[in-house]
Amino acid sequence: MPTIEQKRWREGVPELPEVETLRLGLVKEAVGRRICAVTVANPKVLKGQSEAEFRDRAVGRRVLDVKRRGKYLLFPLSAENSSSSSITLCLHLKMRGAVLLKRADDALGRYGVVRVALESGAALHYEDLWAWGEWRAIAQEEAALLPALGEEPLEAGWDTDAFARKLAKKRVAIKTVLLDQKVVAGVGNIYADEALFRARLAPTRAAALLTAEESKCLAEAIREVLTEAVALGGSLGDYVDLYGQPGRYVPRVYDREGEACPRCAEPLTKIKLGGRGTTFCTTCQN
Ligand SMILES: [Zn+2]
Repeated sequence: MPTIEQKRWREGVPELPEVETLRLGLVKEAVGRRICAVTVANPKVLKGQSEAEFRDRAVGRRVLDVKRRGKYLLFPLSAENSSSSSITLCLHLKMRGAVLLKRADDALGRYGVVRVALESGAALHYEDLWAWGEWRAIAQEEAALLPALGEEPLEAGWDTDAFARKLAKKRVAIKTVLLDQKVVAGVGNIYADEALFRARLAPTRAAALLTAEESKCLAEAIREVLTEAVALGGSLGDYVDLYGQPGRYVPRVYDREGEACPRCAEPLTKIKLGGRGTTFCTTCQN
């Protein structure tokens, strides 16, 4: 049995805490900087936008801010002059994307896909094993290119009653509902399993059959688990932050099939639910 430190979470896809950790690094390193050059080694990530358009829209503009919406990072850019349309760079890391801070003269590595050089002398290298991520430079009027997303669970104004009402309309398993980005933004496979464990709910329960009390408890568990993971810089696994550092959040149940439940010590069970591996305790999650 590997120790916690040695274990690699195979499905360690970036979720809200990992994207938020990356955002915090980018705010420090990119905000206020002008983009002086853009290189695209694999245009597949531009999702149909031409390389020339992507480059023309980004180069010469200043990064005004780095925001996060669900698992998307949004970089609003300065207007070049008062007549030009406002542009936002949008990035989704998907399965294996990572942004690393490099020096301006560092060449793109083996998995390097996009390089954004900043006037500070630093460069952002986007690396992506399979180039499944998304990069787009979109104008204000193209905002519909981004999918509709549910509320942000870490925002102070998250309406947990509205969340409970959404659950009440879903007849599928609660785990599957948590992965629906229109119900709550930013939760993926790791933190869905972790939140359900914390709320003592079986992932197989039909969302519509949760009591109001259980829905409320689940909303609190989502908020707690995400807050804890952001504070720890994301989860331990394949993910690394802007400085190449892995996260320190160690999942309690996610992908730990056969290990002792941290609450009742019974072995954890792994099943497939909606096509996704789901680990939980059949004894203390009901
Ligand atoms: Zn248990």
